[in-house]
Amino acid sequence: MTLHDTYDPTNIFAKILRGEMPAVKVYEDDTALAFMDVFPQAEGHTLVIPKDVTARNLLDMPPEKLGPYMLAVQKIAQAVAAALTPDGLVVTQFNGAPAGQTVYHLHFHIIPRNEGVPLGRHGGGMADIGELEKLAGRIRAEL
Ligand code: 5GP
Repeated sequence: MTLHDTYDPTNIFAKILRGEMPAVKVYEDDTALAFMDVFPQAEGHTLVIPKDVTARNLLDMPPEKLGPYMLAVQKIAQAVAAALTPDGLVVTQFNGAPAGQTVYHLHFHIIPRNEGVPLGRHGGGMADIGELEKLAGRIRAEL
């Protein structure tokens, strides 16, 4: 998927939004859904996706929906930081496969980082769902 392709409504995040696939949810409002990344690059790796849009990436996002969505990204980043007290936090997103994107519904990654702990591989091993539920509970408690 390059920047020139079209939105595919069968992508995994669209399925999660429609309730067709499970996710360990952290937060949901009219604008955004946040859930745990099932192949986390660090403990607490959380994704925030916009609802009611067919935006593959940041460039596609309707401007009037971008502000409220980014407020949700900030809210979740603050909750992850409060819950897990990491030394640092990566907040990032990729646009198109050549840029590293693998799921083509806009999402921001929130990835806790700690001194001396290397970042896990992008698309690495699957997490234990019970552990993700515990982490999600700790993050939710800060919202
Ligand atoms: P991208 O590479 O597009 O920036 O990030 C996609 C992210 O989605 C990756 O970090 C990957 O681990 C995560 N991911 C892929 N499939 C699933 C899934 O079915 N459920 C969840 N929760 N995360 C997924």
